[in-house]
Amino acid sequence: MRWSKAFIPTLREDPSEAETVSHKFLLRAGMIRKVASGIYNFLPLGFKALKKIENIVRKEMDASGALEILMPIVQPAELWIETGRWHAYGKELLRFKDRKEHDFCLGPTHEEVVTEIVRRDVKSYKDLPLILYQIAVKFRDEIRPRFGLMRAREFIMKDAYSFDADWEGLEKSYQKMYETYCRIFTCCGLKFKAVEAHTGAIGGDVSHEFMVLAETGEDTIAFCEKCGYASNVELTPAISSEKYFPEEEKPLEKVYTPGVRTAKEVADFLGLSVSKITKTLIYILDEKEPFAVCLRGDHEINEVKLEKLFPGKRIRMATEDEVFNIVGANVGFIGPKDLKIKVIADKALEGYPNFVIGANEDEYHFLNANLGSTFKPDLIADLRKATFGDLCPNCKELLQFIRGIEVGHIFKLGTKYSEAMKARFLDRDGQMKPFIMGCYGIGVSRILAATIEQNHDQDGIIFPWQIAPFQISILYLKENFKDKAEFLYEELSKIWDVILDDREDERPGVKFKDLDLIGVPIQIILGKRFETSQEVEIKIRKTGERKFVTLGKVVEFIKDFENEKI
Ligand code: ATP
Ligand code: MG
Repeated sequence: MRWSKAFIPTLREDPSEAETVSHKFLLRAGMIRKVASGIYNFLPLGFKALKKIENIVRKEMDASGALEILMPIVQPAELWIETGRWHAYGKELLRFKDRKEHDFCLGPTHEEVVTEIVRRDVKSYKDLPLILYQIAVKFRDEIRPRFGLMRAREFIMKDAYSFDADWEGLEKSYQKMYETYCRIFTCCGLKFKAVEAHTGAIGGDVSHEFMVLAETGEDTIAFCEKCGYASNVELTPAISSEKYFPEEEKPLEKVYTPGVRTAKEVADFLGLSVSKITKTLIYILDEKEPFAVCLRGDHEINEVKLEKLFPGKRIRMATEDEVFNIVGANVGFIGPKDLKIKVIADKALEGYPNFVIGANEDEYHFLNANLGSTFKPDLIADLRKATFGDLCPNCKELLQFIRGIEVGHIFKLGTKYSEAMKARFLDRDGQMKPFIMGCYGIGVSRILAATIEQNHDQDGIIFPWQIAPFQISILYLKENFKDKAEFLYEELSKIWDVILDDREDERPGVKFKDLDLIGVPIQIILGKRFETSQEVEIKIRKTGERKFVTLGKVVEFIKDFENEKI
């Protein structure tokens, strides 16, 4: 591509709407443009990168034996009613009526539609296993679309669904997809980790997420360097390395704590460490039943663990007004003693001597509370987020924590959808049985954003070679080098994606800046040395290294770079 013929509207300034690095550079590099909140146009450069990612995904999925299909974005309510998700799925499911007043939705995922395909046309165990996949648009009416392509409302997903005759079959399909995903993210040139994950609303009991490692990631991963354990912190059991020394229980003492509400404020006021303060949070179960959760002030509640205590029910934190109505005191002074509602205590309070609790009376706390004698919780459970100092659940080594961006998620669904939709096949024993299903998603457009979060510097994107929209750029600093530059462009374009910066109305400084911004991995410059010794300068975007190579050796140099010999 010649830049003069391209459509790459780069921006000099950081757009004010961009909150993250990837969002900023996707806009500045002229790759995407916003249409509405969470809805984007892909301009040629962005689309080219997206296609490269799609092609890697497609190649590996095809190699795994999965079959590509295309399902509609518009889906009839009937299918969703069959699985109960028409009502169970929240507002992310965008529902609407057609002109005949029939209910439809925009597909946020395709379990129902794909199960309908298989229920109609797959009759026998002989047709199994079967893995169907598509690369297509999804729509989720996210409550807070943000960070550009990272959390969009309309986005591109690769979704795959496996159908097996038995659980061993599912195990194999799952393993196959796991390995395929590892190959896909490796081919994309990304540093990633597969972690054990929460299954959420989609169902099933086993799942893994694939996380691109980046400081800006929304997820935290707990992992063990010794045994390889890795999980989304939502799921990590909290096993403390801290040992409590036994202490005599001191008498409960009510203290005046005016105007101090947070655990930190209470701790500072009382001259104690935050760990000695507890917080009591009020939740509402299924919009009717309030309950309290009590945990140490230095610990963070893990709502995924809390949800798991109430399968199939909804929980939410009570508002400040609700807390006042339920307890008769304001947030900041709530405690577990003499509460008229159920109390769940975090495991870390077991054996923890003489801590501080709210007195359920404004401006007061109790010193020297003890689990058992001061209050008896209805339940003690692991409810906190694992944190530094906690131990690996497998080998008891200290856990490490890093941040990641979820780019893929694989689930074992079992018969959740096939049972609900009566999707059955004739097994070899003559019995009709429900298909055993798995589902496997990759956020194709999110990969583009995650790639940039992981690979950038202050000047712009540093694309991995495999998904760079342009892998090589050619820039000439004098008009009389143009023919040689054109020649080189023709030659290299036979093998790679090359952009020739032939803009006549831009200064070299602007061109250098643009090429860095759009993240071209190898930048060839015909400059001073070309005049004197016929050598081109090659700048490696990632390291900033500059090499001088004669024209005849350029292809060899790039091949070495491609094969990671340089
Ligand atoms: P998240 O936890 O980030 O909301 P999810 O668990 O809802 O994601 P899945 O249903 O597992 O997502 O979807 C498969 C993949 O699709 C995710 O791993 C992610 O990469 C991508 N994805 C999900 N939601 C979005 C979104 N709003 N914008 C872009 N990509 C998304
Ligand atoms: Mg997920």
